[in-house]
Amino acid sequence: MSEIYDLIILGGGPAGLTASIYASRAGLNYLLIEKAYPGGQTASATVIDNYPGLPGISGTELAEKFSGHARSMGMKQINEEVLGLDLGEDIKIVHTFSGEYKTRNLLICTGASPRKLGIPGETEFLGKGVSYCAACDGAFFRNRDVVVIGGGDTALTDVICLAAICRTVTIVHRREAFRGSPSLQNKLRTFTNIRCLMCAQPVSINGNGHVESLRIQTSDNTITIPADGVFIAAGIQPNSGLVRGKLDTAPGGWILTDRQMRTSISGVYAAGDVRDTPLRQVLTAAADAAVAVEAILST
Ligand code: NAP
Repeated sequence: MSEIYDLIILGGGPAGLTASIYASRAGLNYLLIEKAYPGGQTASATVIDNYPGLPGISGTELAEKFSGHARSMGMKQINEEVLGLDLGEDIKIVHTFSGEYKTRNLLICTGASPRKLGIPGETEFLGKGVSYCAACDGAFFRNRDVVVIGGGDTALTDVICLAAICRTVTIVHRREAFRGSPSLQNKLRTFTNIRCLMCAQPVSINGNGHVESLRIQTSDNTITIPADGVFIAAGIQPNSGLVRGKLDTAPGGWILTDRQMRTSISGVYAAGDVRDTPLRQVLTAAADAAVAVEAILST
């Protein structure tokens, strides 16, 4: 009979890596399955200013610290894409390209991905001027003119990162006020090459083989802003497709849990950005995972 794990952790972001640290410490027979590289969204954050004890650390460095810590504790990890899940009463089965893995407990830490705007040109120009990651792609736009779409912490962080590299950065936001933190808004004001276009909704991204402009709808007309790059920072959506229709979710697909991170199916837990939670940060993702593993240990 094939091995049955105590715990399988899906996802190697801050939640998954924290779960791994706690599972190693508890001596659980566990496996972490990650499809790409460890760190999740954190790995592509320019700067993380609110993780206690590590002010101003880059996302890449924080992700590497999490991953290194988990490895030093003996993390058992494989790199595979999960294709499907059977969430049986006692045993859960994780299907991948190479086969199947059985476990008594499953912890879903699959995080979230950038939300798409769904406007013409967004998909067509992806990698040809359209990006969802300023920290990854900003350097390609040195001394160029770029636009950032969104008004949250990610958009403001992206604008600040890009303003140091690009000739001009125009932030396009659909409301009168940003929802991003006041400290980031204050930092924005220290740059002379940042322009804010408020109450403006993106309509289309245009170009010829590469982005050349963004068309936006303002309160009184439609205008075109010339741009070499368009960075989209319009929030995130949960990576919960694997459990769609299987677990209870909130509108938008965020997985519902109780205080112990238990989902609607016994033995299935969720932690971090993928769950329905009022705050999605590295700190809260890590804390969720700690709570989940402790809950697993106490059942
Ligand atoms: P967010 O807070 O949800 O902000 C998304 C922004 O995109 C909002 O301003 C929203 O406009 C806008 N938007 C959404 N859909 C749009 C559309 N179709 N067209 C135009 N604009 C659209 O997302 P986020 O900035 O990625 O942040 C996500 C979470 O991560 C937050 O909890 C944030 O605090 C956290 N975070 C923290 C840090 C940090 O602490 N350093 C850095 C990055 C992110 P409305 O305002 O009108 O809704």
